[in-house]
Amino acid sequence: MKLLLLTALLLAPALLFANTLQDKHPTGYTDTPLVPGTKWHVHDPDRPLPRVVTPGANNSAPSDAVVLFDGKSLDAWHKQGSNDAAAWKVEGGCAEVNGTGSIETKESFGDCQLHIEWATPAKVESDSQGRGNSGVFLMGLYEVQVLDSYENRTYADGQASALYGQFPPLVNACRRPGEWQTYDIIFRAPRFENGKLAKPARVTVLQNGILTQDAQELLGATMHRVAPEYTEHAAELPLALQDHGNPERYRNIWIRKL
Ligand code: MG
Repeated sequence: MKLLLLTALLLAPALLFANTLQDKHPTGYTDTPLVPGTKWHVHDPDRPLPRVVTPGANNSAPSDAVVLFDGKSLDAWHKQGSNDAAAWKVEGGCAEVNGTGSIETKESFGDCQLHIEWATPAKVESDSQGRGNSGVFLMGLYEVQVLDSYENRTYADGQASALYGQFPPLVNACRRPGEWQTYDIIFRAPRFENGKLAKPARVTVLQNGILTQDAQELLGATMHRVAPEYTEHAAELPLALQDHGNPERYRNIWIRKL
């Protein structure tokens, strides 16, 4: 009996301590002020939790992405502006521009997060805009320039990561010719109301993990030698990749609608 009592006495503080530990890590608070502009308390336990998305390994598609190119087929694409199949060469896990024209996705996208990997030709054969030129055309209208900008003199708003003809990249983050490079792009489509622009498009770009465009507002659709302007269009449009006559390679393309 004495032993039992002694054990209970010894255990009591431990149990008490365990309870205190739990109280030290509550899963929220309701006695806190409201977060301005919301109906939620600071640290509100009832505020909806973020949806779980499983990340892919080594830049592969996360669980909620639309895979646009997995290295095997261009079934998600067709030739731009037609119903013909995309005829770029698919070999060795990548798709290569081959002069058959630009391609676009069958599916349309507006606000999105895009991951795409590209490599310019290892053999440098031209210069300025003739060197590894291609492009990621968001909504088929707004180009994030793809170019071999490694020790290649060309105009600033035509370099890799440039919002072509409008905004040069914040830095030149180009790898050497032939090396694989990544773009991670966050795009907000423009909004139109009654035929007029209500909110311009906005683009963030990371090239090889380096910020090259920081929520930059676009001035309009991409033009060559002409000032950009907006023309009203649908909320979602196909994503396009440019055939500019250089054998650019692409791989691991996935997109998440936002
Ligand atoms: Mg281009």
